[in-house]
Amino acid sequence: MKRISILGSTGSIGRQTLDVVDAHPGKFQVVAMAAGSNIKLAIEQSVKFRPSVVSVATEAGARELCAALKSPSTRTGAKTASLPMPEVLFGPEGLDRVATHPDAEIVVSAAVGVVGLPATYKAIQLGKHIALANKEVLVAAGEVVMAAVKRSKIALLPVDSEHNAIHQCLRGGESKEVRRLVLTASGGPFRKLPLSKFSKITPEQALAHPNWKMGQRITIDSATMMNKGFEVIEAQWLFGVGLDKIHVVIHPQSTIHSMVEFVDGSVLAQLGPTDMRMPIQYALTYPERVPSNTHALDWSALKKLDFEEVPAKKFPCLTLAKEALREGGPLPCALNAADEIAVAAFLEKRLEFLEISEVIEKVLGKMPRTAMNSIEDVLQADGEARRLARIEVERRRN
Ligand code: NDP
Ligand code: MG
Repeated sequence: MKRISILGSTGSIGRQTLDVVDAHPGKFQVVAMAAGSNIKLAIEQSVKFRPSVVSVATEAGARELCAALKSPSTRTGAKTASLPMPEVLFGPEGLDRVATHPDAEIVVSAAVGVVGLPATYKAIQLGKHIALANKEVLVAAGEVVMAAVKRSKIALLPVDSEHNAIHQCLRGGESKEVRRLVLTASGGPFRKLPLSKFSKITPEQALAHPNWKMGQRITIDSATMMNKGFEVIEAQWLFGVGLDKIHVVIHPQSTIHSMVEFVDGSVLAQLGPTDMRMPIQYALTYPERVPSNTHALDWSALKKLDFEEVPAKKFPCLTLAKEALREGGPLPCALNAADEIAVAAFLEKRLEFLEISEVIEKVLGKMPRTAMNSIEDVLQADGEARRLARIEVERRRN
């Protein structure tokens, strides 16, 4: 039985992680989990999976969760009714306690945003393996986090479908045999829309991703292709290859999740349905592969596989991400922080779609070039980039 902690249990990745747990009785035990503000779902999950620690974002949320768990009506009928009540915690300390739970062997890092970074870092320091979904961990703090991964000798297993695919393909050769990594991108909902129409894009249109159902932030990041920029940054850290060896190609069907091209010209690709439960299961069971009834590619529906180069003018966020990675220091962290502020402003209709990249570019230009030696340095740069981004959003509204 593998014992797991989940950061972000109520989110898209968190819920699918619990689906995987559910589909393999006796294989996993959820020892701790952390949610944000979806208390209703946190109650359901607590009753069903009965971890020993549950944390939520706020004290008020923790009170609500505690009251519900004490109520006999919540527990009646649950298979877990006889098990002890979980300890209920809240805030960043609660998140840390979930990530560092003494019984957890592997931590699923799937909270959204930089909030999940310190807790994930602490888990790594304690020698826990990580199933990594949370982009901010490597985008904002790649250098610091990878140094800790090396020191602790833990396995950092990517959940994101592209990196998960590359992780699988790399089992087919030595790292010195790799010519380049090829990250596939769906191209999002605006792949075919002419640039002249980009200024009119609404949040509703940007939230309608053609292939994947995901949280709001990552869905908008897919529409701007900033998500692919983040993935390029993550790929450099995860697989130790330079930017010149990471290539992005648009593949609208999202059937090939990514590829590795070897020095002899041979290309290994990983294919699968667009279902995140497959990479989650791979990360949780690695190095084993376990049977699954849910994940099968429908070959009869697979008519063709298309590929296109990325039209750089339409998706400046991808270029900004590469530039931030090339310069390094606080810039990848600032890229992420400014993007989060800009995406939130776009969703609130305070910013136009095309202004997302403009705000980020401004922030990157203004960021003080400080050294990133610790998580504290990262969090400080993150705060500064957010401050600069908010000023830039406001300036545009006046
Ligand atoms: P969601 O928005 O669906 O879920 C985010 C999770 O984080 C929720 O459980 C939320 O809780 C929790 N959370 C938010 N704030 C806090 C807080 N202050 N304390 C504790 N928990 C908090 O996001 P996704 O699941 O889509 O994505 C999670 C991460 O994985 C992101 O970094 C994303 O980029 C990455 N990722 C996602 C993929 C996907 O297919 N969804 C694919 C690849 C990567 P609550 O809902 O209770 O407020
Ligand atoms: Mg992805």
